[in-house]
Amino acid sequence: MVQSSVLGFPRQGVNRDLKKATEAYWGGKLSQKDLLAEGKRLRQEHWKIQKDAGVDIIPSNDFSYYDHVLDHIQLFGAIPEKYSKYKLDPIDEFFAMGRGLQKPQSPDAAAVDVPALEMVKWFDSNYHYVKPTLQDGQEFKLAANPKPVVEFLEAKEAGIITRPVLVGPVSFLALGKADRGQNVVPISLLHKLLPIYEELLTKLKEAGAETVQIDEPCLVFDLPPKVKNAFKPAYDRFISLGSKIPQLVVATYFGDIVHNQDVLPSMSSLYGLHIDVVRNPEQLDTVMGAIGEKQVLSVGVVDGRNIWKTNFKRAIETVEHAVQKLGKDRVIVASSSSLLHTPHTLASEKKLDEEVRDWFSFAVEKTKELAIIAKAVTDGPASVREELQANAKSMESRATSKRTNDPKVKERQSKITEEMFNRRSPFPTRIAQQQQKLNLPMFPTTTIGSFPQTKEIRLQRSKLTKGEITEKEYENFIEKEIQDVVKIQDELDLDVYVHGEPERNDMVQYFGERLTGYEFTTHAWVQSYGSRCVRPPIIVGDISRPAPMTVKESKYAASISKKPMKGMLTGPITCLRWSYPRDDIHQSVQAEQLALALRDEVVDLEAAGVYVIQVDEPALREGLPLRQGLERQNYIDWAVKSFRLSVAGVQDSTQIHSHFCYSEFQDFFHAIAALDADVLSIENSKSDAKLLKVFVDEAYPRHIGPGVYDIHSPRIPSEEEIKERIQEMLQYLSPDQLWVDPDCGLKTRQWKETKAALTNMVNAAKFYRQKY
Ligand code: GLN
Ligand code: ZN
Repeated sequence: MVQSSVLGFPRQGVNRDLKKATEAYWGGKLSQKDLLAEGKRLRQEHWKIQKDAGVDIIPSNDFSYYDHVLDHIQLFGAIPEKYSKYKLDPIDEFFAMGRGLQKPQSPDAAAVDVPALEMVKWFDSNYHYVKPTLQDGQEFKLAANPKPVVEFLEAKEAGIITRPVLVGPVSFLALGKADRGQNVVPISLLHKLLPIYEELLTKLKEAGAETVQIDEPCLVFDLPPKVKNAFKPAYDRFISLGSKIPQLVVATYFGDIVHNQDVLPSMSSLYGLHIDVVRNPEQLDTVMGAIGEKQVLSVGVVDGRNIWKTNFKRAIETVEHAVQKLGKDRVIVASSSSLLHTPHTLASEKKLDEEVRDWFSFAVEKTKELAIIAKAVTDGPASVREELQANAKSMESRATSKRTNDPKVKERQSKITEEMFNRRSPFPTRIAQQQQKLNLPMFPTTTIGSFPQTKEIRLQRSKLTKGEITEKEYENFIEKEIQDVVKIQDELDLDVYVHGEPERNDMVQYFGERLTGYEFTTHAWVQSYGSRCVRPPIIVGDISRPAPMTVKESKYAASISKKPMKGMLTGPITCLRWSYPRDDIHQSVQAEQLALALRDEVVDLEAAGVYVIQVDEPALREGLPLRQGLERQNYIDWAVKSFRLSVAGVQDSTQIHSHFCYSEFQDFFHAIAALDADVLSIENSKSDAKLLKVFVDEAYPRHIGPGVYDIHSPRIPSEEEIKERIQEMLQYLSPDQLWVDPDCGLKTRQWKETKAALTNMVNAAKFYRQKY
């Protein structure tokens, strides 16, 4: 029979219960005992959901109070001394590594002050993991009461034999780094780590685990030879242990592994291999040809990364194709990756439009899909006829819906011409005209868009949502806010003003709510990192702009300002990346639709008297495909084109800005340069000014505002410090190229520190203005 399998389940619970519990624990409002009890309750509930759905292979150790990679850091005793020296309770040490800890001295404990370990994006998802941070001479030691064993036994006691999930040894090391000041190459520690896996796997076997899922997602990357060569010794060792340890399924996801298929023979006598055929269906045949004679293939056909209902017909065909070659006993139907990246359940959504609800499937619903697909293949389609019929109907409804087929949008896309991607004139002509119109001093100062989102702003917005104030009252309130920030910018003597974005809840949601083609949920939260959850909007159909989205506020702001007012938009790639995209048309098509909508907005802003327009693209870089090569080049091509399409409709005299919250452009410079924005503002306050060297090396001709101070901290930078920062920048950039600005929007700051910091910033700019 064909079995069904889930690679991992979301941890937060129906109502972000885990977030609430951990935050209450951190705030001293929940005891450790109660936190652990809540964790246990959630694990039990999630196992039961999967069991009731009829899933055959249910994971354990996929749960984490913060992050699963961090669990492994603690499990293997890879805890840097700066944490271990405090001898905290294991759970507090765990959170200290995840989020840092500051605690004053108490009668029975010393003061604690440690920052968090570095946290980075998990592959190309919006989840973040804690980076293993390793030392020269690093030793490993298995934790007492290893979490995977404890949780396996916990499930067993509840009557469920689970498949524990571990991050594999090669990926654990490859995803890690040497600690600051250390020279260790993580993968060189493999021989020290393998005995720990052996010990752990032996314990799991003794506890009764028959199979273990061992995640080696780094197989989807282009791997340096040292990492690639590590698979053989690692897996030879596991194979040599025979039945002393559980049988292993090596899981890969988020990409194809064909380019690393020469690694597969070293695993071919392992029990199984899992691949993601939602993302890369074309790898199926190659991988089937490369696995061991008896090896089981777990075929990931239910998308762990998106919220769409699985197309049963297509999934069943794929699985049957595998069955034809391998036989029913050697095929497992699985989620493409862990379901961690999908919201908990569709059942919580009470306000969704019925038409689109029928197209969605969240984690709970996906577990049912897996069981149905497995049954259809095992017992034949007749065994699940009703489910298949309902699914086909839903697919049909989505494919033929007016939402997914807006002829006006399609027609407009078909009429896009080459000229629409290009500004009228090259930069030198444009900047001369802009200078005439805007009349800016050297070292012009500006901010990135938002000003502090005060309690009052949030209060008024929630009153509007609840219907406690009228639209008109809210509008008046926003106007008043704009008046205030204009006045403050007068006092600060900034050069290019912003309206402060008081009306915006979120930089993507705000636009999504004003565009046709977007849907919003009320409970569909997914973990981004630690206790932080996000609720991405969903692109369900063709996108168009029924009416201007930001013109009213920007126009008003411009009308009361004596200096140029900058209009503020979120770019097409960021709107796409921070939403759940459609899976029925290519992302480039969705980006193009967004770009056309934004293009109209840009032109309308210009017509309303806004002659500086910033289009933010902080998500541009994270969309880069994981591997070098053609796929990456294609992405850069369409991403850059959609940005250009969105802004190129303006006159030469209108100045286009763009903003990025990072400054590592080394491998990405050509993409940034190709945007052809008149002014770029980038993060640079936390990084080395050396990163700006690439702009010199490549003779970048346009204007740049590398952030002169870090807005993520309440700290107020002194005028001296900002001057030094500008001095460093001037080693790389020419004085007529340099703008002076903070490194991101100020929405998370207080007014007091904002005013103080900006005063110092403006004074520093004036100092250089005098000098040059
Ligand atoms: N304009 C936005 C703001 O200032 C930019 C936010 C961002 O880059 N993440 O808030
Ligand atoms: Zn930013």
